[in-house]
Amino acid sequence: MDQAMIVILGGGPAGRLASIRLASAGKQVTLIEHGGIGGQCLHSGCMPVCALNDVARLIHSAQELRNLGVIDSVPVPDFPVLLKKMGEIQQKITSILDEETRSAGVDIIYGKTGRLSGGTAYAGDEQLKSEAVIAATGSHPYIPAIPGVNLPGVFTSRTLPGMKKLPATMVIIGGSVVAAEFAYIFSSFGCDVTILSRSAFLKDADKHIRTLAIKELEGVTIHENRPVTSIGGKSQAESVLTPGGPVVADAVFLATGLVPNSGVLDGVNKGPLGEVIVDNRMRTSVADVYACGDVVGPPYLTPVARHQGIVAADNILGIPRTMDYKNIPRSINLTHELAYCINESEGVGSLAIPGPAGPGSFWSVPTGQTGLAKVIFNPDSGELAGICAAGPGGGLIAGYMAFLMKKHFSVHDFEEFIEVHPSTDGVYGLAKYASSVIKKRNKT
Ligand SMILES: Cc1cc2nc3c(=O)[nH]c(=O)nc-3n(C[C@H](O)[C@H](O)[C@H](O)COP(=O)(O)OP(=O)(O)OC[C@H]3O[C@@H](n4cnc5c(N)ncnc54)[C@H](O)[C@@H]3O)c2cc1C
Repeated sequence: MDQAMIVILGGGPAGRLASIRLASAGKQVTLIEHGGIGGQCLHSGCMPVCALNDVARLIHSAQELRNLGVIDSVPVPDFPVLLKKMGEIQQKITSILDEETRSAGVDIIYGKTGRLSGGTAYAGDEQLKSEAVIAATGSHPYIPAIPGVNLPGVFTSRTLPGMKKLPATMVIIGGSVVAAEFAYIFSSFGCDVTILSRSAFLKDADKHIRTLAIKELEGVTIHENRPVTSIGGKSQAESVLTPGGPVVADAVFLATGLVPNSGVLDGVNKGPLGEVIVDNRMRTSVADVYACGDVVGPPYLTPVARHQGIVAADNILGIPRTMDYKNIPRSINLTHELAYCINESEGVGSLAIPGPAGPGSFWSVPTGQTGLAKVIFNPDSGELAGICAAGPGGGLIAGYMAFLMKKHFSVHDFEEFIEVHPSTDGVYGLAKYASSVIKKRNKT
């Protein structure tokens, strides 16, 4: 029997960060990973979207410059080479993460499936002796139970590396951020893309961000309230059938959501999605068993998974710490980073303007696609209640603004703010303006 003191199931962002935290505090930690360290984020989520989006934006910029007569042609991606190179870089990052995790003192067992039975963890058939277990087994794409879903030519983010060539037409099923991001990528690559969204497209996004996303997806056909009944084709996907009629497709991409990987976790209480139920210290219903990351359900976001991992680790170390789900920044990555952080429950004052021109958006001025800045604030106190920073660097701005919101900063605090110029951050200027409006109104 192994002498491991703390066992972690899954080496994605949640499990890896938890393992490093615990090992750095002097604990003996064993991490079991049956795939590649880095999890979905590195292998089939955030990083592939980054890799493909970088190329898509390059093509978009080239189109803008070609339309202005500044350059004479637009590059065409070699899709198989792009996927091959992306895979090589993912392997390189995998090695770096492996080394970083081991050097923190974590023992990693690769190639074995971890599981939990009550409070006992196993690596394959081997029972592991532990003082605590963290389940961080992540999630996988949801596959809707419709006829034709297993046909060749139907892909998810997991199976995308198997796409041998760019399809001429693609249907993306789903109305989420992932649907929007892949639609932007494949449309920029020259595919004729149709989105079929069962309900409203990007229904959870801020309304200005949603409008902007639709504008940035101008080459994409978006059908809302269009449930899919089946995928047609004999030996290969050829069409997608909906009550509104069929849509022709050489390839179908399923962006239909994620499902927690909790099948291997016996004994802990679970919710209707299969998500492991935890309290705000990431404790499950079984003593000394914690869970974190996508396996505990939405929001499915890497920074949330990482933070939950740290919270679980700290509580194991005897440092009381709780998860706070307020002020979580998000981004939809299209031509720009359409980033936002909204606390809808607070604040009714709101100002929005187009994003300023600057680095990364200068050549977009003729098309009016320079992004957007928006500030939501409490009209009496000026306390920040939300921001949108859609433009180059939007994600970075939203992250810091979310932090300031958490610390209860107000628009008046921005009177002291000095910006970098040129930059594409319109949020600070709006905050200063909002401050002057509130002060003027309070005087009258
Ligand atoms: C297409 C796509 C794009 C995304 N883009 C973004 C984005 O832009 N920004 C963002 O914040 N988030 C994004 N996400 C979400 C993000 O990838 C996840 O929230 C994050 O990876 C969750 O981390 P995790 O550690 O909980 O789980 P995972 O990353 O799923 O990692 C779980 C790990 O556990 C391993 N594992 C599972 N079961 C076992 C077992 N029984 N034994 C041993 N090992 C096991 C898996 O191999 C995996 O390595 C995206 C997701 C997708 C699908």
